Amino acid sequence: MAVSKTKPAGMVREAWHLGQRDFGENYLQEALDKQAELAGLDDIVWHFIGPLQSNKTRAVAEHFAWVHSVDREKIARRLSDQRPVELGALDICLQVNISDEPSKAGVTLDDLPALAAAVLEMPNLRLRGLMAIPAPAEGIEAQRLPFARLREALAALKARFPDAPLDTLSMGMTADLEAAVLEGATLVRLGTAIFGEREPR
Ligand SMILES: *Cc1c(COP(=O)(O)O)cnc(C)c1O
Repeated sequence: MAVSKTKPAGMVREAWHLGQRDFGENYLQEALDKQAELAGLDDIVWHFIGPLQSNKTRAVAEHFAWVHSVDREKIARRLSDQRPVELGALDICLQVNISDEPSKAGVTLDDLPALAAAVLEMPNLRLRGLMAIPAPAEGIEAQRLPFARLREALAALKARFPDAPLDTLSMGMTADLEAAVLEGATLVRLGTAIFGEREPR
Protein backbone atom coordinates (compact mmCIF):
# COMPACT_ATOMS: atom_id res chain seq x y z
CA MET A 1 0.00 0.00 0.00
CA ALA A 2 1.26 3.47 -0.85
CA VAL A 3 0.56 5.85 2.05
CA SER A 4 -0.27 9.17 0.44
CA LYS A 5 -1.20 11.25 3.50
CA THR A 6 -0.13 14.91 3.18
CA LYS A 7 0.85 14.28 -0.46
CA PRO A 8 -1.06 15.89 -3.33
CA ALA A 9 -3.51 14.09 -5.59
CA GLY A 10 -1.08 14.54 -8.48
CA MET A 11 1.44 12.24 -6.80
CA VAL A 12 -1.25 9.61 -6.28
CA ARG A 13 -2.17 9.87 -9.94
CA GLU A 14 1.47 9.47 -10.95
CA ALA A 15 1.82 6.32 -8.81
CA TRP A 16 -1.45 5.00 -10.26
CA HIS A 17 -0.08 5.44 -13.79
CA LEU A 18 2.90 3.31 -12.74
CA GLY A 19 0.52 0.53 -11.67
CA GLN A 20 0.00 1.20 -7.96
CA ARG A 21 -3.65 0.66 -6.96
CA ASP A 22 -3.79 0.56 -3.14
CA PHE A 23 -3.44 3.87 -1.29
CA GLY A 24 -3.61 4.65 2.44
CA GLU A 25 -4.87 7.83 4.03
CA ASN A 26 -5.01 8.94 7.69
CA TYR A 27 -6.97 12.18 7.67
CA LEU A 28 -10.57 12.01 6.54
CA GLN A 29 -11.12 15.43 5.01
CA GLU A 30 -7.82 15.37 3.16
CA ALA A 31 -8.68 11.92 1.81
CA LEU A 32 -12.15 12.93 0.66
CA ASP A 33 -10.72 15.93 -1.19
CA LYS A 34 -8.17 13.73 -2.95
CA GLN A 35 -10.75 11.09 -3.80
CA ALA A 36 -12.96 13.73 -5.41
CA GLU A 37 -10.03 14.97 -7.47
CA LEU A 38 -9.18 11.40 -8.56
CA ALA A 39 -12.72 10.19 -9.19
CA GLY A 40 -11.79 9.03 -12.71
CA LEU A 41 -9.36 6.39 -11.41
CA ASP A 42 -12.11 3.88 -10.85
CA ASP A 43 -10.02 0.85 -9.87
CA ILE A 44 -8.13 2.65 -7.11
CA VAL A 45 -8.48 1.03 -3.68
CA TRP A 46 -8.61 3.41 -0.71
CA HIS A 47 -7.53 2.25 2.74
CA PHE A 48 -8.26 4.23 5.90
CA ILE A 49 -5.33 3.76 8.30
CA GLY A 50 -5.65 6.62 10.79
CA PRO A 51 -7.29 7.01 14.20
CA LEU A 52 -11.05 6.76 13.82
CA GLN A 53 -13.60 8.55 16.02
CA SER A 54 -17.34 7.96 16.01
CA ASN A 55 -18.17 11.14 14.12
CA LYS A 56 -16.04 10.00 11.15
CA THR A 57 -17.34 6.47 10.72
CA ARG A 58 -20.12 7.25 8.25
CA ALA A 59 -17.86 8.97 5.72
CA VAL A 60 -15.23 6.25 6.11
CA ALA A 61 -17.85 3.52 5.57
CA GLU A 62 -19.03 5.30 2.44
CA HIS A 63 -15.69 6.23 0.86
CA PHE A 64 -13.15 3.50 1.63
CA ALA A 65 -12.70 -0.16 0.72
CA TRP A 66 -10.62 -1.02 3.80
CA VAL A 67 -10.19 0.20 7.38
CA HIS A 68 -6.99 -0.92 9.17
CA SER A 69 -7.44 0.94 12.44
CA VAL A 70 -10.49 -0.65 14.09
CA ASP A 71 -9.71 -1.24 17.75
CA ARG A 72 -13.07 -1.25 19.50
CA GLU A 73 -16.48 -2.75 19.06
CA LYS A 74 -18.40 0.52 19.04
CA ILE A 75 -16.51 1.80 16.00
CA ALA A 76 -16.88 -1.54 14.21
CA ARG A 77 -20.62 -1.57 14.89
CA ARG A 78 -21.03 1.91 13.44
CA LEU A 79 -19.00 1.03 10.34
CA SER A 80 -21.18 -2.02 9.73
CA ASP A 81 -24.42 -0.13 10.33
CA GLN A 82 -23.35 2.75 8.07
CA ARG A 83 -21.78 0.76 5.22
CA PRO A 84 -23.92 1.19 2.07
CA VAL A 85 -25.01 -2.35 1.20
CA GLU A 86 -24.47 -1.81 -2.53
CA LEU A 87 -20.73 -1.31 -1.92
CA GLY A 88 -20.34 -4.80 -0.46
CA ALA A 89 -18.64 -5.63 2.81
CA LEU A 90 -16.00 -3.26 4.17
CA ASP A 91 -12.64 -5.03 4.62
CA ILE A 92 -11.37 -4.68 8.17
CA CYS A 93 -8.09 -5.12 10.00
CA LEU A 94 -8.06 -4.91 13.77
CA GLN A 95 -5.29 -2.67 15.07
CA VAL A 96 -3.35 -4.36 17.87
CA ASN A 97 -1.29 -2.49 20.48
CA ILE A 98 1.46 -5.01 19.88
CA SER A 99 4.18 -3.31 21.94
CA ASP A 100 1.68 -2.91 24.79
CA GLU A 101 2.28 0.83 25.07
CA PRO A 102 0.02 2.62 27.55
CA SER A 103 -2.45 5.05 25.93
CA LYS A 104 -1.51 3.96 22.39
CA ALA A 105 -4.14 2.96 19.86
CA GLY A 106 -4.98 -0.68 19.40
CA VAL A 107 -6.72 -3.53 21.13
CA THR A 108 -4.62 -5.56 23.59
CA LEU A 109 -3.76 -9.15 22.73
CA ASP A 110 -5.95 -10.20 25.67
CA ASP A 111 -9.01 -8.42 24.31
CA LEU A 112 -8.40 -9.35 20.65
CA PRO A 113 -10.36 -12.65 20.51
CA ALA A 114 -13.54 -11.07 21.89
CA LEU A 115 -13.31 -8.13 19.50
CA ALA A 116 -12.70 -10.46 16.55
CA ALA A 117 -15.70 -12.58 17.54
CA ALA A 118 -17.90 -9.48 17.66
CA VAL A 119 -16.70 -8.17 14.28
CA LEU A 120 -17.22 -11.57 12.65
CA GLU A 121 -20.92 -11.28 13.54
CA MET A 122 -21.32 -7.90 11.83
CA PRO A 123 -23.05 -8.27 8.48
CA ASN A 124 -21.39 -5.49 6.47
CA LEU A 125 -17.80 -6.06 7.61
CA ARG A 126 -15.30 -8.69 6.42
CA LEU A 127 -12.59 -9.36 8.97
CA ARG A 128 -9.38 -9.72 6.93
CA GLY A 129 -6.64 -9.59 9.57
CA LEU A 130 -4.49 -7.56 11.91
CA MET A 131 -2.55 -4.30 11.76
CA ALA A 132 0.09 -2.95 14.12
CA ILE A 133 2.49 -0.05 14.49
CA PRO A 134 5.20 -1.31 16.87
CA ALA A 135 7.23 1.00 19.08
CA PRO A 136 10.35 2.15 17.19
CA ALA A 137 13.27 -0.25 17.60
CA GLU A 138 16.85 -0.28 16.36
CA GLY A 139 18.06 -3.20 14.32
CA ILE A 140 16.23 -5.81 12.36
CA GLU A 141 16.25 -8.48 15.08
CA ALA A 142 14.57 -6.18 17.61
CA GLN A 143 12.12 -5.01 14.95
CA ARG A 144 11.10 -8.58 14.15
CA LEU A 145 9.86 -9.45 17.66
CA PRO A 146 6.57 -7.50 17.67
CA PHE A 147 5.86 -8.55 14.08
CA ALA A 148 6.35 -12.19 15.08
CA ARG A 149 3.85 -11.67 17.91
CA LEU A 150 1.33 -10.23 15.45
CA ARG A 151 1.84 -13.17 13.10
CA GLU A 152 1.24 -15.57 16.01
CA ALA A 153 -1.87 -13.63 17.05
CA LEU A 154 -3.29 -13.99 13.54
CA ALA A 155 -2.49 -17.72 13.53
CA ALA A 156 -4.31 -18.11 16.86
CA LEU A 157 -7.36 -16.28 15.50
CA LYS A 158 -7.38 -18.47 12.40
CA ALA A 159 -7.33 -21.58 14.60
CA ARG A 160 -10.18 -20.22 16.69
CA PHE A 161 -12.29 -19.00 13.77
CA PRO A 162 -11.43 -21.41 10.93
CA ASP A 163 -14.17 -20.10 8.62
CA ALA A 164 -13.14 -16.44 8.91
CA PRO A 165 -11.49 -14.82 5.84
CA LEU A 166 -8.33 -13.96 7.83
CA ASP A 167 -5.55 -13.52 5.26
CA THR A 168 -3.94 -10.16 6.02
CA LEU A 169 -1.00 -9.06 8.15
CA SER A 170 -0.82 -5.28 7.68
CA MET A 171 2.60 -4.51 9.13
CA GLY A 172 5.77 -2.68 8.17
CA MET A 173 6.41 0.97 7.32
CA THR A 174 9.42 2.64 5.71
CA ALA A 175 11.65 2.19 8.77
CA ASP A 176 10.90 -1.48 9.42
CA LEU A 177 9.56 -3.00 6.24
CA GLU A 178 12.29 -5.63 5.84
CA ALA A 179 11.63 -6.98 9.35
CA ALA A 180 7.91 -7.07 8.66
CA VAL A 181 8.36 -8.96 5.39
CA LEU A 182 10.65 -11.49 7.09
CA GLU A 183 7.85 -12.12 9.61
CA GLY A 184 5.20 -12.66 6.97
CA ALA A 185 3.62 -9.29 6.26
CA THR A 186 1.09 -9.61 3.45
CA LEU A 187 0.72 -5.85 3.11
CA VAL A 188 3.29 -3.16 3.96
CA ARG A 189 2.21 0.46 4.37
CA LEU A 190 4.84 2.68 2.75
CA GLY A 191 4.75 6.44 2.69
CA THR A 192 8.21 7.98 2.87
CA ALA A 193 9.85 5.21 0.84
CA ILE A 194 7.53 5.94 -2.08
CA PHE A 195 6.64 9.63 -1.88
CA GLY A 196 9.57 11.06 0.11
CA GLU A 197 9.65 12.84 3.46
CA ARG A 198 6.46 14.50 4.67
CA GLU A 199 6.19 18.08 5.82
CA PRO A 200 4.89 18.34 9.38
CA ARG A 201 1.16 18.78 9.15
C1 LIG B 1 2.08 7.38 7.98
C2 LIG B 1 1.76 5.94 8.16
C3 LIG B 1 2.45 4.95 7.44
C4 LIG B 1 3.60 5.24 6.49
O1 LIG B 1 4.71 5.68 7.20
P1 LIG B 1 6.16 5.82 6.50
O2 LIG B 1 7.10 5.75 7.65
O3 LIG B 1 6.18 7.14 5.82
O4 LIG B 1 6.32 4.69 5.55
C5 LIG B 1 2.04 3.64 7.61
N1 LIG B 1 1.05 3.31 8.44
C6 LIG B 1 0.38 4.22 9.15
C7 LIG B 1 -0.72 3.77 10.05
C8 LIG B 1 0.71 5.56 9.04
O5 LIG B 1 0.06 6.46 9.78
